[in-house]
Amino acid sequence: MHLLNADLHSHSFVSDGTLAPEAVAARAAEGGVQLWALTDHDEVSGQQRAREAALDLGMGWVGGVEVSVSFAGETVHIVGLGIDPECELLRAGLAATRAGRRERARQMADGLAQAGIAGAFEGALRHVGNPDLISRTHFARYLVECGVCAHTHEVFKRYLTEGRPGYVPHQWARLGDAVAWIRGAGGVAVIAHPGRYKFSANEEYALFTEFIAHGGAAVEVMTGSHSNAEQLRFADAAVEFDLLASRGSDFHSPEESRTALGALPDLPGRLKPVWEALAERIEGPVAA
Ligand code: AMP
Ligand code: MN
Ligand code: MN
Ligand code: MN
Repeated sequence: MHLLNADLHSHSFVSDGTLAPEAVAARAAEGGVQLWALTDHDEVSGQQRAREAALDLGMGWVGGVEVSVSFAGETVHIVGLGIDPECELLRAGLAATRAGRRERARQMADGLAQAGIAGAFEGALRHVGNPDLISRTHFARYLVECGVCAHTHEVFKRYLTEGRPGYVPHQWARLGDAVAWIRGAGGVAVIAHPGRYKFSANEEYALFTEFIAHGGAAVEVMTGSHSNAEQLRFADAAVEFDLLASRGSDFHSPEESRTALGALPDLPGRLKPVWEALAERIEGPVAA
């Protein structure tokens, strides 16, 4: 089981990806993925489509989600794997987490209008697949479409991050709540792409210890967001904190994603793969 090609982090147009769940599944299968999870932001409405597509393609599947959390003044993402997408506790928590997105988007558009970019709310909405889930990524695609920037990464840097005209601070879910919803739905909570957070050493230590105290059990080591050095650093962190290790591309779209589905390096042999704890939740050919 150690060398399973697992890709346990990906997005469809149900959140800020550009493809349908079925199309993401097809790309995973093409990439040789044996166990796949669709982990849309704050939303599980794509899970049944993802499950059926995965099983039709002969891939293993587990339920997934990526919850937006506020911790120490930063946005942190907590992936839930092996979740039951029908769980009412989880669904209610995710609905509450999504609730402020539309108003936030209006404020983002106001900020962009002051910077001379008109019509961004309507423009971003044209890129949205799920009206409940308008995200910064949709604004970024609109600004690329308008020719304001050449690439979405540039839009984030110039317009959508702290101190920039389209940035609006937001209060997401609490860490303990996100972990409780995931566990309540039968899932395992995973710290997503830890290398992306701008934490001091003390804040990072607090994230890991509080996450574990709430019952979190895994950390992403292999992700499209990590440099080689970060892969090593968080492999060490997984050992130090006795966490399971996860692997996922964080695929959003063929044009924007640096890492194809299924293409990441394997987890180092000294780590415990998160899928070994998911055996009872896996459906399809890799089921135990
Ligand atoms: P939101 O949940 O609306 O704050 O949007 C967050 C999403 O924006 C993340 O899930 C990423 O997909 C995307 N994102 C964040 N930072 C960047 C960046 N620097 N470049 C490209 N995409 C980014
Ligand atoms: Mn995203
Ligand atoms: Mn994320
Ligand atoms: Mn993601």
